[in-house]
Amino acid sequence: MSDNGGMTALDVLRPRLPSPLREVRDDRFERHGVRLLLKRDDLVHPELIGNKWRKLAPNLAAAAGRPVVTFGGAYSNHLRATAAAGRLLGLSTVGVVRGHELAGRPLNPSLARCAADGMRLRFVDRATYRRKTEPAVLAALLRDCDAENAYVVPEGGSNAAAVRACRELGAELGDRADVVAVACGTGGTLAGLAAGLAPGRRALGVPVLKGGFLDGDIRRLQQAAFGGPRGAWWLDDRFHFGGYARVSPALDAFAADFERRHGVPVERLYVAKALYALLALTEEGAFPRGTTLAAVITGRPFPERTL
Ligand SMILES: *Cc1c(COP(=O)(O)O)cnc(C)c1O
Repeated sequence: MSDNGGMTALDVLRPRLPSPLREVRDDRFERHGVRLLLKRDDLVHPELIGNKWRKLAPNLAAAAGRPVVTFGGAYSNHLRATAAAGRLLGLSTVGVVRGHELAGRPLNPSLARCAADGMRLRFVDRATYRRKTEPAVLAALLRDCDAENAYVVPEGGSNAAAVRACRELGAELGDRADVVAVACGTGGTLAGLAAGLAPGRRALGVPVLKGGFLDGDIRRLQQAAFGGPRGAWWLDDRFHFGGYARVSPALDAFAADFERRHGVPVERLYVAKALYALLALTEEGAFPRGTTLAAVITGRPFPERTL
């Protein structure tokens, strides 16, 4: 950390904030009298992309140079962002990855990027992974990783500090849109976003996992971050397309078409589902004429490709 010209640790993570907000012209929305804005959180930082920058920044500050241990699936954007932060800040990072069967196999491109950024990867079976927040299980994991003094960031980076940081996303939007849509994994981004919006504005969460458990998770995250419920939000559970990382040909075609129309890269696992949901709801007549919608572009496709 001393070899970057006297900059303090978090300076190298300097983000572009507020992220750009711009209107796109799309006849499929205009036909219903609805405007569409894109909140380009994918442009916040070149390597800690979108909501991952917002959620990690306060945690990296809190880690204060200690090793960072965190958790994710085999294609986790959060693991990649944490690994990149580790390289940029000179922090040691450990990624606990769901799926013991992945150990000893060639790494997929996402995990290969994590490893190239210096992250140590630890594969655990699904039962252990599910119990990772239990103190005894966590302590054993940390011991196993030789990281007992580590700063632990939960799966997806969603803890109280992260949720409070995501309130800034809502504050940047303020009263610019009536409804702001965001794709949800853990729900941390939605929990903060809803808290930051101006009164009367609403946040729509589009879960990308199947299961319908998110409502309680988001309440708990807001309780931990703010001491109680904040803002107006709701979830629409119809747009997970079969679950995490499931991308149907129809969703893929929708996303490719959106990219062609608007010149914006559309990440398929999350962002495409939120955009699809906004269009479907618009076509169902869910939004009165004169409504302004915003979609949070929370990430970029990986591996990066040119449009
Ligand atoms: C992680 C991620 C999300 C989900 O964020 P949560 O706070 O976990 O709900 C949404 N979009 C993208 C692109 C992500 O990488």
